[in-house]
Amino acid sequence: MTRSFSNRVFRFAPSSNGYLHLGHAYSALLNFDMARAAGGRFLLRIEDIDIERCRFEFEQAIYEDLGWLGLAWETPVRRQSGHFSDYASALAKLSARGLTYPCFCSRGEIMNAVVARTGWPRDPDGSPLYPGTCKHLAREEKHRRIAAGRPAAMRIDMEAAIAKAGRGLAWREMGHSAQTREVAAEPSLWGDTTLSRKDIPASYHIAVVVDDALQGVTDVVRGEDLFLATSLHRLLQVLLDLPAPAYRHHALLRDASGQKLSKSSRAKSLRALRQDGLSPAAVQARFWSDLILAGGP
Ligand code: GLU
Repeated sequence: MTRSFSNRVFRFAPSSNGYLHLGHAYSALLNFDMARAAGGRFLLRIEDIDIERCRFEFEQAIYEDLGWLGLAWETPVRRQSGHFSDYASALAKLSARGLTYPCFCSRGEIMNAVVARTGWPRDPDGSPLYPGTCKHLAREEKHRRIAAGRPAAMRIDMEAAIAKAGRGLAWREMGHSAQTREVAAEPSLWGDTTLSRKDIPASYHIAVVVDDALQGVTDVVRGEDLFLATSLHRLLQVLLDLPAPAYRHHALLRDASGQKLSKSSRAKSLRALRQDGLSPAAVQARFWSDLILAGGP
């Protein structure tokens, strides 16, 4: 562990559901360098709540790839799958404040409920906003279904949550240089989103907010694809009485056709590039466009 001379804490938090690509390398190096420049700490966190899709083999590959890149991080590494009870406590806190409700709907039922309504709004991830079916269930019916063992997701009651959090919800966004700006949060974009699923007892949103607080993260540096999620994260932080980190959402690396590098678009993995002869020095030097073109994602 390197000695730190400030109290700033950065983290790189990949999901272990595939191999890392150059976009991850960019984000990890940025976090690592910012932590070093600030005299702060650099943490690695494995986001593996999706136990169906996350694999130990991918987790091992993350350690290997980041080590190959020359990064060093503190141990033990926090793996989210070992901390479901932390997320459950946070969820219970919100429920105790009357800010959640159980939802028994299947994906198909939600689609059916909204399909006839043209122009039905979608959340930033592209899912239709929840039409509120289970929000209006009679209390007795809710209890009957729970007692019958029907699996339920937990949803945030967004209207009640926003009312409770009050006005002026915002976050501090850092730019390339030292300047920061205040961004007004718009959590309503997410509607009554899920905080736990039928098959997974925590959503990404609640897990990330709880972990950033428990790990004392002061600076969240991540891809701009998560910019709009920050509205929801700020809301949860306020409702759970958690500190607000500063954020920096960096641009995403794109391939020659302009498509962002992602696991789903089958961007070439760092380990495949390594096999092709790519050196860590080339990645550290950040000639991204050259590397992407050479890698031919
Ligand atoms: N686990 C997320 C991902 O791999 C990143 C979460 C975050 O940085 O907040 O995309």
